[in-house]
Amino acid sequence: MGDIPGAREELDRLGRALRARMVELITDLTPGADLGLLFLDEPTVADWHEPLRHHYSALLRGERPASVGAADITSRAAALLDSAGWQVTTSQDGDGPRRWSVLTGRRGDSSIEIRVGHHMSAVMFSGQTPALALRAPEEFTWPEPRCTPETLTPGYLLCYECDGLGACPECGGRGWVPDQVHGRADCRACRRQRVCVICRGAGQLAASLLSPYQRGYYRRPG
Ligand SMILES: [Zn+2]
Ligand SMILES: [Zn+2]
Repeated sequence: MGDIPGAREELDRLGRALRARMVELITDLTPGADLGLLFLDEPTVADWHEPLRHHYSALLRGERPASVGAADITSRAAALLDSAGWQVTTSQDGDGPRRWSVLTGRRGDSSIEIRVGHHMSAVMFSGQTPALALRAPEEFTWPEPRCTPETLTPGYLLCYECDGLGACPECGGRGWVPDQVHGRADCRACRRQRVCVICRGAGQLAASLLSPYQRGYYRRPG
């Protein structure tokens, strides 16, 4: 099991730095927001392609004080980020009174986005660290079969679907299969059950309980 030396420590450091910056912004811009909701406890998977890459991310809604306008919050947020050494870009989402001012701050590969509603008091804070691989990619090892011709229970036959594997023969018991676009896709054969859907993981089937249809699988050709 190959943990990449120092990767978790580096990600934790980035997570702490992100949280500290977000706490500072939220406390200043939307005082009274519940900072306990700013979960940054465990990194989550940002990219399911091998090797998996993890990041810390957080989302929090604050309320603009009644006395402060949306434009003031936006410029104050930009000034705070800028003075902390973050690169800031500003844009608009929508137009008219129902628009949001969107402010994006970047530092390294970490980012913070602040959306300020002009039509409501909501200020949405979101942030994420870069996504890092924490472990070296591992070659998948196919599981040992649950049953072989030598270990069959008397009166039983090897499962015609998995040939005794027991685990789902499509995904090898992982519940997922590699997917080019998303990295992983749910296994359609077992629907994440991980075991063979015919023998339910036993690898063998009682000959006396086979349906006529199932018996067809054991008939030798010719
Ligand atoms: Zn089976
Ligand atoms: Zn499967």
